[in-house]
Amino acid sequence: MIAQQFDYSAPESVSEALSLLSSQKGSRLLAGGQSLIPMMKLRLSTPARLIDLGRIAELHYIAEVNGSVRIGAMSTHNQLETSETLHRKCPLLAEAAGRIGDVQVRNLGTIGGSLSHADPAADYPAALLAVQAQVRLVRQGGERTVSIGNFLVDAFTTALEPGEILYEVIVPVDQTGLSSAYLKFQQPASGFAVVGVAAQVAVQGGNFSVARVGITGVGSASYRATAVEKALEGRPATTATIEAASRLATQGVEALSDLYAAADYRAHAACIYTRRALGAALSRAK
Ligand code: FAD
Repeated sequence: MIAQQFDYSAPESVSEALSLLSSQKGSRLLAGGQSLIPMMKLRLSTPARLIDLGRIAELHYIAEVNGSVRIGAMSTHNQLETSETLHRKCPLLAEAAGRIGDVQVRNLGTIGGSLSHADPAADYPAALLAVQAQVRLVRQGGERTVSIGNFLVDAFTTALEPGEILYEVIVPVDQTGLSSAYLKFQQPASGFAVVGVAAQVAVQGGNFSVARVGITGVGSASYRATAVEKALEGRPATTATIEAASRLATQGVEALSDLYAAADYRAHAACIYTRRALGAALSRAK
């Protein structure tokens, strides 16, 4: 199907994009177009104007700044996957980026577009929850920074207000001694996560001193598996501890049911992938 007719603007700065966004009702930001264009072709989205962020140089960067890694919204999945800075400072995020879709999608799709689209099966949220990332949102005359957990409200719903642009993702890099892994059970055609689990652990004196687990694909929004984390922290860093804790992976979460996986199957897979991701993270611990 062909998309409905629309106007098109390609601003060269964020301030120009913000002013366009507030000046015409029905405007929509365009990033990599990997989710928005298919939706427009299906007429699930019919914007009056597309504001293409592709020419805004200030949104393309991955840089270490004041104890954090800052990732501009227009950084592509491929740029995250291959970023030397991320491999050094936050390998979990690079690993998750490398598991998104196929090469074509990774070359065009962006972290800002993926987070703003908020597909409940997207890969980034699991990793960003585990590393306790924040997002910086800008609007005309102001900005705010929110935790990734508060940004991702529900399926296809975020905390973005009309007139706001997701400017950057902020990842704290005080991750000394942490090891991590991202594993997913993927939908065979698209590569989206039926279940995706990001695990980050640290071990001290033979016990888990830190355990963080982010899960995507299972509920209507990605979540931190806090019951699993509590069952790990302070306990012996063994496969038996992981095995017992992983059974709590869906505690308090209503698992989704769709064509690819019924709710009970998905919940079971979540426990298995939590166990495997934690096992992989532990095996990488120094
Ligand atoms: P767009 O499609 O351009 O925009 C998406 C939405 O975000 C739009 O509503 C747009 O207005 C809004 N938006 C964009 N940028 C901003 C911003 N800076 N601030 C505010 N709003 C903004 N994803 C996965 O996670 N895992 C997968 O395995 C996976 N497989 C895929 C397979 C295929 C075949 C395809 C086509 C997509 C797949 N995706 C997958 C989705 C992909 O990651 C997209 O790149 C992503 O969902 C959207 O990013 P985008 O840059 O293309 O955004």
